[in-house]
Amino acid sequence: MASSRMNKLFGRHEPLPAVVEQARTSLSKLAETQPDLRDLSATTAALLRQMYLEVPVVVWSFTGEQVARKLEGGVPLLRGEHLVLDGKLLQKQFEQLGVVMETQGHPAAKPLTVAVRQGQFDVLQAAQAILLGDPTTVVTQADAQALDAELTATLLRLTLFPLLEQISSAARPLRPDDTWSNGYCPTCGAWPLLGEYRGLEQKRWLRCGLCADEWPLDRLMCFACGSRVYSDLHYLEVAGEELKQRVHTCEQCHSYIKQISTLDRLDSPALLVADVATLHLDLIAMERAYSQPQ
Ligand SMILES: [Zn+2]
Ligand SMILES: [Zn+2]
Repeated sequence: MASSRMNKLFGRHEPLPAVVEQARTSLSKLAETQPDLRDLSATTAALLRQMYLEVPVVVWSFTGEQVARKLEGGVPLLRGEHLVLDGKLLQKQFEQLGVVMETQGHPAAKPLTVAVRQGQFDVLQAAQAILLGDPTTVVTQADAQALDAELTATLLRLTLFPLLEQISSAARPLRPDDTWSNGYCPTCGAWPLLGEYRGLEQKRWLRCGLCADEWPLDRLMCFACGSRVYSDLHYLEVAGEELKQRVHTCEQCHSYIKQISTLDRLDSPALLVADVATLHLDLIAMERAYSQPQ
């Protein structure tokens, strides 16, 4: 009993939240049915466990009026806000996610965790740069220390994800419907990880990979450059998967986004699973020189 009280105080989840366990089960099934995704599935399952083992509660207050004012100007909610984050906790979580990567056979994680431990890479500063909409600073910092920039960005994103999803879910009910018609996230400003076609109507929603937010977007519009020119907008599909998932591409800006059919919104851990399960679509798009906006 005493230990469960302690767990509650520190946000420790034992067992893990049901949605995280479900996501981990889906990853095990994915590894069985698609052997080429076995390593990535195992790594993602291990990362998810670490991400949700102990989640600090983020407190940030805002009013409906503040939300409306920012969004009407096309400014993501967190842009320019001072979000109080616990630097020590962030660093600890980043390091532990790095150890998970290392254990899962990604040696590039080792110098990264060493750099963090020795104070050569400041996780809090990097997280704040991301929240300011400045991912290039993180890449420059990582490059300057010969660290793997892509891995650094991934670990930062996964460190922040369970924290920022608390903000996006608190802010969403304050957001009037249809006030946001941009391709970037209304809460954190990141580009979407993927899109969903939901339910029978197959309405298009975009999902953020940094804060798990969701927002609707016109089907006949490029999320990245806003082009509505019919001849710019194309699809890439795999035979047999046409009803399930596809890639939207744009000839104007050469960006792409994966769109998957879902019954309803994917919960946050399932969003990361869907990203793994559709890796082949990223490869198809990248082979054709489309990319995700940075
Ligand atoms: Zn976001
Ligand atoms: Zn475009």
